[in-house]
Amino acid sequence: MNNVDLAELIFPDVKETLADLDKKYPPRNLKDGALVTRFAPSPTGFLHTGSLFTSLVAYTVSKQSGGVFFFRLEDTDQKREIEGSGKELIEQLNYFGITPDEGYFGDHEKGSYGPYVQSKRADIYKVVIKELIKMGRAYPCFCSSEDLNLLRTTQEANKVIPGYYGLYAKCRNYSVDELATMIKEGKPYVIRFKSMGDHTKYVRVHDLIRGDLNLSQNDQDIVIMKSDGLPTYHFAHLVDDHYMGTTTITRGEEWLSSLPIHLELFESIGWKAPEYAHLPVIMKVDENGNRRKLSKRKDAEAAVSYFIEKGYPIEGIIKYLLTIANSNFEEWLRANPKANVADFKFTFEKMSLDGALFDLPKLRNISKEVLAYKDVETICKEAYEYASKYDSDLLAFINKQEDLFKKIMNIERNQEHPRKDYDVYSDIFNKIKFFDSDIYNQMLDSTELPFNPFIEKDLIKNVLKEFVDNLDLNQDEQSWFNSMKELGSKYGFANSVKEYKKNAEQFKGHVGDVAEMVRICITTSKNSPNLYQTLSILTLDEVKRRVNLVLSKI
Ligand code: GLU
Repeated sequence: MNNVDLAELIFPDVKETLADLDKKYPPRNLKDGALVTRFAPSPTGFLHTGSLFTSLVAYTVSKQSGGVFFFRLEDTDQKREIEGSGKELIEQLNYFGITPDEGYFGDHEKGSYGPYVQSKRADIYKVVIKELIKMGRAYPCFCSSEDLNLLRTTQEANKVIPGYYGLYAKCRNYSVDELATMIKEGKPYVIRFKSMGDHTKYVRVHDLIRGDLNLSQNDQDIVIMKSDGLPTYHFAHLVDDHYMGTTTITRGEEWLSSLPIHLELFESIGWKAPEYAHLPVIMKVDENGNRRKLSKRKDAEAAVSYFIEKGYPIEGIIKYLLTIANSNFEEWLRANPKANVADFKFTFEKMSLDGALFDLPKLRNISKEVLAYKDVETICKEAYEYASKYDSDLLAFINKQEDLFKKIMNIERNQEHPRKDYDVYSDIFNKIKFFDSDIYNQMLDSTELPFNPFIEKDLIKNVLKEFVDNLDLNQDEQSWFNSMKELGSKYGFANSVKEYKKNAEQFKGHVGDVAEMVRICITTSKNSPNLYQTLSILTLDEVKRRVNLVLSKI
């Protein structure tokens, strides 16, 4: 009995060869320099913010080089699989506009390099494993979990590196005949790779972000096929990325230490390894000021659904992730504020090496900019879409008075420096609800109006009375503001903050205080969108009604 016989004994039904697979999955016909990248999540939960980041990088480099970006579902660890998660992952990715050219799309697949779901590729992996057994680079291992536990305890006691390697790799030293006998006896087994490495020596590896590195060689005889007939990640990615023509693997830096295993696997079978870029993990500064990995368990913002539900605009998130991805992105954005982000030239060299820090206030700021520069049609449409799914109050508001909503959203929009009233879509309702008369009435009943306690109530009343008696909304904003100044002067308020500061004791306040009284009356709060436009949108009658209502209460 030799290795070829052993391979036949283990895989009698596997008739295909590597040559057949080569024919089925020929090299891709792409222009020079085109990169083929992929997003390869396991269906074990929601889309993680770190995964969105990794897939954005993969997508961007493929698009910029005229290549292909595909989605592969890595579901070989079936114990950890969560029903429906694969579909959710691709849907969330699509939501951010990161649409694969080919791969798994939930209810269907697209592309000629599939199947793109690993559990459907068992036959392909077996062809390659059979070949490795024939070559003497893989063997069946019959060690039980008790055997492996005992091995670990012994290794710990002897203070040697743990694992299945060299002298400790018991099954590696059986003869082919001995292995064949155990197979025939029906003993359960896994298949292990036979490593030729030596961990006391180094292998030189290249990472697109980190450059050349010396890592310890692999000498572990890792499991490549589990007892359920499915491969492990290490082996599956080798076969898939080879036959799917991946040129560039972008994955989390937690995989960097396994790179020597992967390179040895590629070498053993004589395949050219793809290039690797190990991306920094996303970190955050926690409540105690410590820097730590964004955690699925502890941090709501670790799941992209958090951003979707809070109504962050997609472009805001993409722009923010690009600021983490490339140190020169922000500078580029400042120089090209109106440009499409797809025009930014991403490079691996400009990627930061230590963990990228997730900064929520910065993301809010970027999102606020994005919302401010949207045209009125777009913001109304997107706010409606958001409200339909996540904000029933906003939805009811829009459905009741769509024209009003549009007018509100148009306040100081579409100008060189638009007003930045909202960070995210979920901010909108609370900031505009006072426009609705019914809601305003309820708010008035339940809110203590925040008038300035240093201004006497009677003075406030007199100013407001005169304001409402003379209000003319047919004038332009400047003339209206001049009339506010006149009103203020009459009651002892300075025309500007500057004038007030020069001689504070001579005044009751300044024109801003007068405007604030009005604002509080008609909105119940000190903050609101542009006051003049708010008055105009409310209309003269409604403003009068509100001011008179307040006057009757204070
Ligand atoms: N399924 C692996 C993961 O989710 C993929 C890593 C890779 O991109 O190769 O971490």
